[in-house]
Amino acid sequence: MSQSLVTAVRIDVPDEILVGGRWRTGAGPVLEPVDPATGEVLARIHGASTADVEEAVAAGERAAADPAWRDLLPHQRARYLHRIAELIDANAEQLAGLQTANTGKTLTETRALVASAAGTFRFFAAALETHESALTPSRGEYLTMRVHDPIGVVGAITPWNSPIASDAQKVAPALAAGNAVLLKPARWTPLVALAVGRLATEAGLPAGLLSVLPGSGSEVGDAIVRHPGVGKVSFTGGTETGRTIGRYAAEKIMPVTLELGGKSPTIVFPDADVDHAVAGVLFGIFSSSGQSCIAGSRVFVHESIYDTFVPRLVEATQRLRVGPGTEPGTQVGPLVTVSHRDQVARMVDTARAEGGRVLCGGEVPDDPELARGSYYLPTVIDGLPNSARTSQEEIFGPVAVVLPFTDEDDLVVAANDTVYGLACGIWTADYRRAWRVGRAIQAGTVWVNTYKQLSVSTPFSGTKESGIGIEKGRQGILSYSRQKSIYFGLNERPLPWAGIG
Ligand code: NAD
Repeated sequence: MSQSLVTAVRIDVPDEILVGGRWRTGAGPVLEPVDPATGEVLARIHGASTADVEEAVAAGERAAADPAWRDLLPHQRARYLHRIAELIDANAEQLAGLQTANTGKTLTETRALVASAAGTFRFFAAALETHESALTPSRGEYLTMRVHDPIGVVGAITPWNSPIASDAQKVAPALAAGNAVLLKPARWTPLVALAVGRLATEAGLPAGLLSVLPGSGSEVGDAIVRHPGVGKVSFTGGTETGRTIGRYAAEKIMPVTLELGGKSPTIVFPDADVDHAVAGVLFGIFSSSGQSCIAGSRVFVHESIYDTFVPRLVEATQRLRVGPGTEPGTQVGPLVTVSHRDQVARMVDTARAEGGRVLCGGEVPDDPELARGSYYLPTVIDGLPNSARTSQEEIFGPVAVVLPFTDEDDLVVAANDTVYGLACGIWTADYRRAWRVGRAIQAGTVWVNTYKQLSVSTPFSGTKESGIGIEKGRQGILSYSRQKSIYFGLNERPLPWAGIG
């Protein structure tokens, strides 16, 4: 990777993308990623065109079928993943700085994401080496077994909010399973994916196995999804985009993994440890400035503690330090773009129009030092029913809606009364209650007395309109494999039907 990829806000990135094993200028429109803390353009990069997608698919098909890759034994293929992990670690500060510059996230957070990306490559290297085919119980004169083949060329389409983590979460298991990957990062945040592409090249990954194709979803993303040579798409992003991709996948009869949006409930029972609950609720909704699929954006608080808990939450929210992600101590960075910030502000206006009370935040900060960035103050709103648009729609910003509840059964109904089913937080000292409620909530992940803790060794998935398919966990490799059953005949005589022998 280039020596100094990040110096303050000046980013020295060549105008090149990775197409089918070659670093070259993309044939698509110019992308101008912006530093959300300052509004400055970080780089000018020609994105991919549909012709670039064609070239990448053809190269991916060749590379995936090449015996030099196809015939590698698992422990041999795993070495490439280990090498990429080592290079991610070796370039951790540059990668974190790049991601902070391109997304506005704090350095504390991007450093953790970079470390987790390296961990993801290592985890899938280990999962690959220890992945077992199975002998299935025989029911006749044959030996039966289940094996897994690579799919071929896989599309990995990622959003802008946590680029390196989402990229690694798809690229590592897809390569581990023996595929070639077309990685399409979001238009606003192409820099980290390109940097990961450079590290994969440096790691000696055979040409064509990874293409990095930044560009718009409607052109580059669409071309990847619809290409007949792409055998699977793993997508993380908004529910509406996921629905569109799912439709095309149905036409091609192609498997998809869809990790989509959320509006996750966080529930505070009267016996909760209040310090833990306040800290957890704040982290759950305001870290990443609320730009997180698993953000705990609906906070249900038991009525018996509502009048003490909510003021504490508001007070703690007002103390959060808003500022550039590069400044030590910043907790809430800018939102990814000005247009996204304005969209969040419009949702808060909707909340006011719906009769909601804005208890804190609800505006851009008045600090002149932050005027050029796309900042929005952490916001707490109450006084709305669960049916309000603000309580139902994903805002993807630093906005929490607080709702009182009385009865546990009614609470479960209200918490599940959403099209989404991604995550849930439960704060209580009663583990029987935590178990009961946790099992009753429709969500892919439930946290009890903690929130937004994620581990690559534990599967991640959404239910309802939050998605289909599973990422992470040892079985994560299977999402990028085709299952095949093999029958080995053991009969001593010809099959009887033909009457021979
Ligand atoms: P988005 O759906 O607008 O875009 C995601 C990616 O899809 C981008 O790379 C985009 O260019 C591409 N894309 C857009 N239209 C496409 C199309 N027609 N065909 C193919 N690709 C297309 O989402 P976003 O605004 O980048 O990200 C925010 C959303 O992502 C939120 O809804 C958030 O909840 C969700 N998200 C979900 C998870 C999860 O794991 N469940 C994680 C992070 C973000």
